[in-house]
Amino acid sequence: MKRLLIFFALGYSAFGQAHYDLLLQGGHVIDANSKLNAVRDVAIQDGKVAAIAAHIPSSEARKTIDVRGLYVTPGLVDIHVHVYAGTGMRDAYSGDHSVYPDGFTFRSGVTTVVVLALLNIVGNGMGGGKIEQNLDDMDAKATAEAAEKYKDTVVGIKTAHYDGPEWTPVERAVEAGTLANIPVMVDFGTFRPERPFQDLVLKKLRPGDIYTHTYLDAVPMLDASGHVLPYLFEARKRGIIFDVGHGGGSFLFRQAVPAIRQGFVPDSISTDLHIDSMNSGMKNMLNVMSKFLNMGLTLEDVLARSTLNPAREIKREDLGRLSVGASADVAVLRLEKGDFGFVDVFGARLPGHQRLVCELTIRNGLVVYDLNGISRTDWDKLGPYKVQGEATWDGTISTGLRTEKK
Ligand SMILES: [Zn+2]
Repeated sequence: MKRLLIFFALGYSAFGQAHYDLLLQGGHVIDANSKLNAVRDVAIQDGKVAAIAAHIPSSEARKTIDVRGLYVTPGLVDIHVHVYAGTGMRDAYSGDHSVYPDGFTFRSGVTTVVVLALLNIVGNGMGGGKIEQNLDDMDAKATAEAAEKYKDTVVGIKTAHYDGPEWTPVERAVEAGTLANIPVMVDFGTFRPERPFQDLVLKKLRPGDIYTHTYLDAVPMLDASGHVLPYLFEARKRGIIFDVGHGGGSFLFRQAVPAIRQGFVPDSISTDLHIDSMNSGMKNMLNVMSKFLNMGLTLEDVLARSTLNPAREIKREDLGRLSVGASADVAVLRLEKGDFGFVDVFGARLPGHQRLVCELTIRNGLVVYDLNGISRTDWDKLGPYKVQGEATWDGTISTGLRTEKK
């Protein structure tokens, strides 16, 4: 996992009573952890959530943002993304090629992404092609040691894209996960009769291990009459986690719609963000979440699966929640009503009437994305304005979307 690196904090105040740095006023707060689902004000100080209450006066904050009519949620947690630089990977499976995180996360309300943190069982990493087929380069002990050495950033072991008939990559990943006491995330590569998917989720993986790409074409999901196969519910009962991992090739409405109607909903929603997926059906985290809203999940269910659940899956209970003392990672979302359409990886469309849009993203107490400038002052009220920036700890002026002093 890579937490996005913005560490400026606005700790000082020359405004007497105004002890909070930032106040979000009048928004509808949904927080799965505290089961809060009501209109609340949220105050932020020193990069942390400082208060959540029915009414916090503007006079107590240096800056107040009116978020009436919007939803205020924990910053979204996306556990399947490709945001490392430099592998140059582009292969026959996914056409993977990765992006830089800050460019494609903040604008979707995402404040935490998981990537390097899922250490690949392949010593040479997710290099594509033959690199990922080399069984001799899948050393459970060495992988576990590396994971433990960097345990602040490595939250799991990943195995992916394997073509062969052997179980070896899965077995070695589970062995490494057991040694390092962290979960395994599986992309099952080419589905083969020698290693049935049913055995993966019923026998090979441990409770707490994650199967990503749940609504992939190749996953045996429905019987001939369209009923969800019972083994999937059995696997869930065993504690196997089913994650979306939409990507460029792994999400079909003809799997997802009937499955969700019959109660087989994902444990977590993730994007599998890379350049191809973001320019095709996947687009971004909020678009994937909107698909699930239009397939019948409630907003509360969708948000829990995009905040608290993924944080728990990677055993980071400090993330994915809005509570006093937690990092002020916040997404302010608008639920638009209208005529929309959503596209799966085979190009099929699902019409829908709801869509989530990110208005504002706050990371560690700082505004890092602001679609409509709701944290800003109108230009004609500022007088002869110059740079609307903020002094940071090192004395430089940041001209981005940070809270400006009046
Ligand atoms: Zn991926």
